[in-house]
Parts: sequence; C-alpha cells; structure tokens
Amino acid sequence: MILNSKKLIRIKGSRKRELHRAGWIMKDAHTLIENGYLEIENGLIRSVHKGRPEEKSVDHGPGVLMPPLVNAHLHLELSALKNSLPFDKGFKHWVKLLLEKRDAMGKEELIKAAQNSLQDLLESGTLYLGDVSTLGISRQLMEDSGLNGVFFREFLGSDIPGVLTLKNDSVSFSVAGHAPHTSSPQLLMALKKSAASKTLLFSIHVAESDDESEFIRDKKGEWANFLTARGIDFSSWDIGSKTPVSYINDLGLLDSSTLAVHLLNVNEKDMDLLALSNTKVCLCPRSNWNLHKKLPDIEKMIQKGIQPALGTDSLASCASLNIFDEMAFVQKSYQGLDPETIIAMGTINGARALGLEHMTGTLSKGKKAQFLYRPLGGLNKKNILQRHIEKRKKGKGSIIFGLDS
Ligand SMILES: [Zn+2]
Repeated sequence: MILNSKKLIRIKGSRKRELHRAGWIMKDAHTLIENGYLEIENGLIRSVHKGRPEEKSVDHGPGVLMPPLVNAHLHLELSALKNSLPFDKGFKHWVKLLLEKRDAMGKEELIKAAQNSLQDLLESGTLYLGDVSTLGISRQLMEDSGLNGVFFREFLGSDIPGVLTLKNDSVSFSVAGHAPHTSSPQLLMALKKSAASKTLLFSIHVAESDDESEFIRDKKGEWANFLTARGIDFSSWDIGSKTPVSYINDLGLLDSSTLAVHLLNVNEKDMDLLALSNTKVCLCPRSNWNLHKKLPDIEKMIQKGIQPALGTDSLASCASLNIFDEMAFVQKSYQGLDPETIIAMGTINGARALGLEHMTGTLSKGKKAQFLYRPLGGLNKKNILQRHIEKRKKGKGSIIFGLDS
C-alpha cells in the first residue's frame, strides 16, 4: 500500500538541485528565516538560507516550510477501536473492553483501519512514527507506506521470544516490553538485551496507571489479585517499596537506547534517574487525560533536562494520531510552556526519541528532503510559532513534500 494524496509531492530521487521558497522557513523551533530558501539535491537538504532574488525557485507562497512531525508512540493496530470505548468507567474496564473488542474483530477490519490511519498521518504531515504492535499486523503496512520510523513488536507475560530484530533504511524493527506490571522481569531484561544486541531502541510503557504504581510499591492490591487469579506467580519479582521507574532502573532498563512512555506517576527522584541515564521519554497527554484525568509534569521534566517527545497512543484512547492536535492540547493545558518548546516536542525531540535525528526533526543540511508547507497568512516573527500549535481550522492542512515511494 503506497500512500497517496493530492497534498503529497514526491521528490525522492530528484538528482537535480531544486530551490523551494516560502514566506518563512522554520529551520527548527528556534530558527525562523523570513523569505527563506530551502535547497535540496539527491533527496537531501543542502542548505537553508535567506532569499537571493536572482535565483529560480519553486515559490510556495507566504506560509511556512517546516520539518515533518513525529508521533513517537502509537498503536496502529488499535485504530478500528476509534470512539468505541468509554473513558468514564475506569482504566481496568477500558483495558478489558479493548481486548474483548479487538479479539472479536477480524484481522481484515484491523488492517483496514490501520491503513486509514496511515493515510491520515500522511495528510497531517506526521511522517515519522514509533508504532507498537502486539499482533504484529502493522509491520508490513508501515514498511509499505513510505512513512518512516521504528516498529516495535510488543510482548507481555513471561514467554521469552526468539530474536526478531531487523533493520532497513527507512523503518527499524525492534521490540518493546509492555509494562513493569504486565511482564516478568526476565522477559523485560531479555527484550532489552535483544534490542541492545542490534543497537536498536527498546520501548516500554511505564508509570501510567495507579494500579501499576500500587503493585510495584506494595506487591499487593488489585493488580496483584488479578495476576494471582490468572495463575501468574510474581513472588520472585523484586518489587515492593519501589516506583515503576526505580524498579525498571534496578532491572538495568534505563539508558539512552530505551524509550520510556507515559511517566504519569513519577516523582523527582524518578525524573533524575531518567535524566541522568539519558533515557528517551515520550508523553501522550491527550490519552492520559482521557483515561486517567491526569497529565504528566512536563515543566518539571524539562527543568530536569529531559526532552520529551510527543505520542498519541492509539485511537482507542485519543481522538486523532495527528501531532498538530497533540501540540494544540499541550498548548491549552500547560500555560508555562512556550511555543518553541512545544514545537520541538513534536519535531526534533520526537526524532531524537526514535534515534532518527540524522534524518529529520529540523530542516538542516544532510537531512532528508521532507518538509511541510503550511499555507498560513498574516504571519510575523511574534505569532508564527503560536499559529502552528493553535487548534486546527478545517481547510488549512499541510502540503507534504518528499515522502519516499
Ligand atoms: Zn501505548
């Protein structure tokens, strides 16, 4: 399935030098160039500079050329569950229904919805993904789509799989452990080892729910009863008097090749552990708000030196997979964050979180010639960043350049 759209202009393989002009170029969240030119050749960016009127260029208009967005955590395979689960009956109820409904659906239905999601991601300019899949069905879809990123095959429980990591140019294939309270420590450590042996990223949901925190802290409670009822023996798990983050630190999971997702229930010590180990962090505020009525402490994390990326989690807990929507929600919910920080979260921080900063995240020399044109008018240096993180108006979508075919 090769994605296509009227708004997509493929420029890969174009050997000839091309210049693209716009009223503004957002080289990165902190560098705006008025009347800017983007020079590309052989599918890569050669330079970004101020206008030289004598040069022949493709003139896009008064809007902005900017880097594509990165959704560092989502589950394409759950797209068919959009708008089908209630959020007001508690997290456990939501998880139970999710599994029941997903298992009742045919593979074809799940695949079709995942394909539609890939198309929507393309249309929104969200071209880089960190997709997490328990069923494995989205791997081929992502590879065929031309969107780039990392596909994580996710495991939970205690059965340790064989090595299945592979890599190609545009999509890396790696593994994820589901979460500290759903997977045995042996499984989590084996998955981390498997990813590390191929210098690939390992991903894990951590510190998301109160049940998880209670179980890791007390070694008893509702989650402990749930595992016991299913015959899962956790007596050898080295938990108790710990937070989820300190527990996975003790397992040796925190380092610069681990992507920790959610971090809703973390204290300052946990943040220090994440920052000092250079662990990558991805936050999904809209999903957290829907499921837990809580938000991660982004301001504090940034003070600690963490550079969080943004994800959406799946359509089962979030209204869209579009990172412009996630940035608009962050803007509305966190008065202390400036637009530069929020745009960095949706671009370069996402690229770093997925280990793709050599390819994307900014419009800089040597990165892929992939960019968005946003046809916004009335821009000036003061309002330009703000305009990108406002709630979207219909008909003001991005035009996407340079997706691989
Ligand atoms: Zn998730």
